[in-house]
Amino acid sequence: MDRTKVRNLVLVLGDQLDPDGTAFDGFDPDRDAVLISESKEEASYVPQHRMRLVLFFSAMRHLRDALEKRGYRVFYGALDDRANRGTLAGELKRRVKASRPERVIVTEPGDFRVLDDLKAAAKRLEVKLDVRTDGHFLDSVADFALYAEDRKQLRLENYYRRLRKRHDILMKGEKPVGGRWNFDADNRERLPDSNSAPKPKRFEPDQTTREVIKLVESQFPDGPGDPRKFDYPVTPAQARRALDDFIAKRLPDFGRYQDAMASGQPFLYHSLLSSSLNLHLLDPRDAIEAALAAYADDKAPINAVEGFVRQVLGWREFVRGVYWWKMPDYADLNALDADLPMPALMWDADTEMNCVRQSVAQLVEHAYAHHIQRLMVLGLFAMLLGVRPYDVHRWHLSMYIDAVDWVSLPNVVGMSQYGDGGIIGSKPYCASGNYINRMSDYCKDCRFDPSQATGDKACPITTLYWDFLSRNRNRLKGNRRMGFQFKNLDRKSAGERRAIKRRADRLKSHLTAKTYL
Ligand code: FAD
Ligand code: SF4
Repeated sequence: MDRTKVRNLVLVLGDQLDPDGTAFDGFDPDRDAVLISESKEEASYVPQHRMRLVLFFSAMRHLRDALEKRGYRVFYGALDDRANRGTLAGELKRRVKASRPERVIVTEPGDFRVLDDLKAAAKRLEVKLDVRTDGHFLDSVADFALYAEDRKQLRLENYYRRLRKRHDILMKGEKPVGGRWNFDADNRERLPDSNSAPKPKRFEPDQTTREVIKLVESQFPDGPGDPRKFDYPVTPAQARRALDDFIAKRLPDFGRYQDAMASGQPFLYHSLLSSSLNLHLLDPRDAIEAALAAYADDKAPINAVEGFVRQVLGWREFVRGVYWWKMPDYADLNALDADLPMPALMWDADTEMNCVRQSVAQLVEHAYAHHIQRLMVLGLFAMLLGVRPYDVHRWHLSMYIDAVDWVSLPNVVGMSQYGDGGIIGSKPYCASGNYINRMSDYCKDCRFDPSQATGDKACPITTLYWDFLSRNRNRLKGNRRMGFQFKNLDRKSAGERRAIKRRADRLKSHLTAKTYL
């Protein structure tokens, strides 16, 4: 038999590391082979947090080892392999030329650009490309499009209820378990000063991860973050241990403190499962089932379990659906005409704003900030300042352990920057420093006062909040959910509004004087 020739070449991308994913359906170890490649282009098209690079490369190498143990033939392109062409298309060409497959099989990528590149590469190489539905998700891209097409307006709540019914999750017949679909109202507690969340399970790097850490240190000496501090799960077994640890120790309080923020507590009661889910080390069904089992065993209350299910089943599937339904145009949306660059302080935490400084510093340290820090501190600050939504997304891809295009783009351009003009959410998430003061302890150690919009102690978030409302008044005045905020703006005198504008203009030019991207 000609060992150089293969029947099917299964291309596995860095965010599809499930050894039983749809791309392996019908895999015949005697005739088929796998291609996994560490791509310099993917690792550097935006500057990337070095823990994120370690995560991807280490998890890919662990998958390679697991597949080889099964007896699969794996063509692996290590980043420092001299033959590695550095791009996915280049690597595909090299392997297709050498092994002359009848077809290349890939699971739907998580990035529109990658899908486009692969289609173009396959066409050039005159090889069949079989793009398979991604079985990792509970809904499919095609079903979401059918659902979305006849609706005037998309809303998470309706979509989420539909999935709950369809998959019979937290249902008692036709009714929701606990008598309500939504327990958000119970999930807005501030963390008491004396409360300290149990630390999440972390993972000591093994030999493979240590080699990757060295590689990342040498190849990406200037990227953000310290790769030597890497401690995320890199295999399905580790991801399962991280899930079990979350369910036992943090799920019971996940709901009530879901919106809280606290100095020195970067993870609080959050699960830290997003990177494992997004690389497909963990199946969302397993995460949901584990939470439901904790509820059935009386180990976690309904507000926590429903809150967690809403994130994994609701938001995660919803944003993916919107991404594929609206791409490629979605990436360019900028409904509020925001045109400033991302300030350098979002990379280096060099700012007196304590909320922003703490959130960015923890991001550099762990490549992680939890949802409310993303939405109501970092995203809020960027939106109030008026940063271009796509630039915020690029920054996001650079800094977060869990960022993949399909999930970052709708969350950033849509949910946090309102660049999509209301496809994801019904109004901008805009608030003053008073919100941050209510939900965190950041303001007590800050030199600014969240209640002041002008003067030396004025909180920049508060100044920019009023300025945001003024400058977007015409764009947003038709939005009834903004009525209360505009009414409060109208209570300000003309003199106050002028002073706010002067201070906001100074802040904008001062804060964006230094940029990195
Ligand atoms: P938990 O708070 O424990 O939530 C459980 C799980 O629910 C998460 O692991 C995640 O898989 C899912 N989830 C929760 N909210 C969302 C959401 N809005 N969209 C999709 N999934 C959700 N999530 C990413 O996975 N990657 C991103 O690049 C990303 N970018 C974001 C950018 C902004 C501006 C905002 C506001 C949110 C973003 N999110 C993103 C969603 C959410 O903030 C993260 O999934 C979450 O903070 C990850 O931490 P965790 O695993 O501890 O989540
Ligand atoms: Fe942030 Fe303003 Fe509070 Fe300071 S006072 S921590 S800048 S919200």
